[in-house]
Order: sequence, then structure tokens, then C-alpha cells
Amino acid sequence: MSWIDTAWEWAAVIIGILVVGGGVILGLVRGRGGATKDLPAPPPTVPAEVEEELPPLQPTPTIERPEAPEGRLARLRARLSRSNTALGKGLLALLAGGRLDEETWEAVEDTLITADLGVDASTQVVERLRQRVAAAGKTDEATMRAWLREELVALVDPSLDRDLASSRIEDRPACILVVGVNGAGKTTTAGKLARVLVAEDKDVVLGAADTFRAAAADQLQTWGERVGVPTVRSDRDGADPAAVAFDAVKAARDLEADVVVIDTAGRLHTKVGLMDELGKVKRVVEKQQPIDEVLLVLDATTGQNGLRQAQVFTEVVGVTGIVLTKLDGTAKGGIVVAVQRDLGVPVKLVGLGEGPDDLAPFDAEAFVDAILD
Ligand code: GDP
Ligand code: GDP
Ligand code: MG
Repeated sequence: MSWIDTAWEWAAVIIGILVVGGGVILGLVRGRGGATKDLPAPPPTVPAEVEEELPPLQPTPTIERPEAPEGRLARLRARLSRSNTALGKGLLALLAGGRLDEETWEAVEDTLITADLGVDASTQVVERLRQRVAAAGKTDEATMRAWLREELVALVDPSLDRDLASSRIEDRPACILVVGVNGAGKTTTAGKLARVLVAEDKDVVLGAADTFRAAAADQLQTWGERVGVPTVRSDRDGADPAAVAFDAVKAARDLEADVVVIDTAGRLHTKVGLMDELGKVKRVVEKQQPIDEVLLVLDATTGQNGLRQAQVFTEVVGVTGIVLTKLDGTAKGGIVVAVQRDLGVPVKLVGLGEGPDDLAPFDAEAFVDAILD
């Protein structure tokens, strides 16, 4: 009976090989055929990662509905306080620690300066708090917290006009120019801003006047496509940015859009030729209509160095508002105060992350509350 056993065993092995081998071959054939037959050829301009996210057989990507801008700062408060907690907690520990001697006041001032508040503003806060303590003779935690809050809110200045020009003015679109040094977050901000404006039911046109690299225009266009906003761009690397900006404004006027947002190439404030080029972008656009808003994008993590940049940009193109990006990654929130005091220009928006809706309209009180949380 051992002969039959062996035969059955052989038969089982051969059947096994046939089944497995056949399956592999079939899989290979199907896999290949499927790849060429079932998937549509990707359009040449869509980057690979985006293509993968799109559902198959859908000719146009779904338009996203961005989050409404109201209350964004409150939602993002945790991001702000996480990095600035040291500041608020440190200050309160010193102020409500019981003994407010000379050394403690100095430590308070140092803490404020370390947060990039600037020396003048830091001295001012300390002087005013000292006066209040001397007059009222109180140093309990609740009182100190309330006074510190009041002083910081006063410094950040809730009375500044932080409205963004984003509605039609008479019979033309509002025009926003986005400027700053390399890597500050200009393109990201232009893209996020388009979403804020779409959420407010505005008709938006984007202008890709960063013509140094085609990739910059692609980046902006991708932001626009996600919310159904057209991007005016040049197909040629190194095209004249002034010409692209001009065309973007013209398109916005022809489309009767509410607002046109123009992204520009990053430039060091120390490079005279590039700063001249930016001045030219402004002059050429103004052949058609005024620019209503020049937003200077500053990376909050660069601290005081950002102030020098800001001054030069203001001299060349007249900055009307600051966007402070990457506040989620720094404990130097005091830069808000320093930049406003130095330039007399309000912070209008803050970037608190890399997510599409992580750009919030700035609000003085919500900002200070987040720091003191
Ligand atoms: P540009 O050269 O000024 O146009 O800078 P980009 O818009 O290309 O941004 C440079 C980098 O900064 C990108 O990786 C962005 O995702 C990042 N970035 C921009 N804004 C923020 C922000 O508010 N928080 C964080 N964490 N990253 C940001
Ligand atoms: P220039 O290059 O120093 O002579 O500066 P211009 O102010 O003459 O123009 C700069 C660029 O902006 C040019 O290359 C034009 O393409 C563009 N530009 C200027 N004015 C106009 C205009 O009225 N219409 C259009 N379409 N483009 C303009
Ligand atoms: Mg850019």
C-alpha cells in the first residue's frame, strides 16, 4: 500500500504546483492588462501625488469647501499656547511668586525680551506693572494675571484696523500683493488666503508672479484648483513677473472678480536688483489700478531679523499688513508686538501650521489669551 500513498502524494504536489503557478501567471497578465486598460492616462500637468488621491474615472477633482475664517484663531489656540506657554507660565510664576524684588522684575523683563517683544515694549510693561503693584499693593495671582493681560493686549493694540481689502472697490477688483524673503511662506499663504476668501463667498483670481521656477506656479495653481480658483501664470521660466502680475489683474478685471491675490518670488531685502524688480511689479500693475494691500509674509521663527526685512520691504513697496507664519513653531510670539511698533503696520493674519486652513485672521485679545493660557 506504500506505492499508492506515494502516488497520491505526487499527485497532490503536482496539482499544488499547477494551481499556484497558474495563479501567479494569471495575476501577472491581469495586473499588466489592468494598468494599461483600466486607469486613464494622467494629465501631464498634475503632479503624481495629487493624481493618486483622486478617485478614478472622475474627470474633474471635487472642489473643497474651506473652513470659515471666524473662530479659526480659537481653534488654533492650542498650537499657539503650546509654543508660547513658557512665556505666559514663566511670567505668572514670577509675578505671583510672592516676592517682587528688583531681581524678580529684571527676570520679568528678560522673559519678555526673550519672547522677542523688543526692549522698549518689555521695559514699558514692567514699568506699568510696577506702578500698579505700588498703587494697589496687591500681588495675588488673579490680579497679576488680569493686569498682565491688560498690558499685553494694550501692546498688541486691539484698535488697529486689521481688515483685509478683499471686496470690489467701485467697479474693480481689490488687489493684494504678497511679498517676502525666500521660504517665509508666501505661496502657502497666498493659497490659504484664497481659501479664506472662497469661504467668504468671494470670487478670487490668483496670479503666479514667482516666475523663477515653474514649480512655484504649479504649487500656487494646485492650491487654487482645490477650491476652484483660476491661476494666471506664465508657461515660461524666467518670464517677466511684472507682466504676469499685469495679466492676473487684467483677468480679474475681465472676470469681474472680487479680489486678485498675486504671489511673488522670494527675495532677500539686501539684493537691490530684486527689490527694484518688486518695485517694478507694483508700478506695472498700477498702470491699470491701485494695489490695495501689500502683505509682507514674515517667518516668526526668524525673530528680530524679520524686522530689518520688514523695513526694507516697506520702503520699496509700502507694506499695509503683516502675515506672521510658523507661529506654531516658536515661543517668540512677542514678535507680533515688535513688528507692529517698529513699522506701524498691523499683523493681519497668522500662520499656525501647514494644514490648508491653518491661516487665521489675527485678533489681539484671542492672541494674548492663548499666550497666557
Ligand atoms: P515661500 O518661498 O515664501 O513661497 O514659502 P512657501 O509658501 O513655499 O513655504 C515654505 C515652507 O513653510 C513650506 O514647507 C510651508 O508648508 C511652510 N509653512 C508656511 N506657513 C507655515 C506655518 O504657518 N506653519 C508651519 N509650521 N509651516 C508653514
Ligand atoms: P521695462 O521692461 O523696464 O520697460 O518695464 P515696463 O514697465 O515697460 O514693462 C514691464 C513688463 O510689464 C513688460 O515686459 C510688459 O510685458 C509688461 N507690461 C507693462 N505695461 C503693460 C501693459 O500696459 N500691458 C501689458 N499686457 N503688459 C504690460
Ligand atoms: Mg513661493
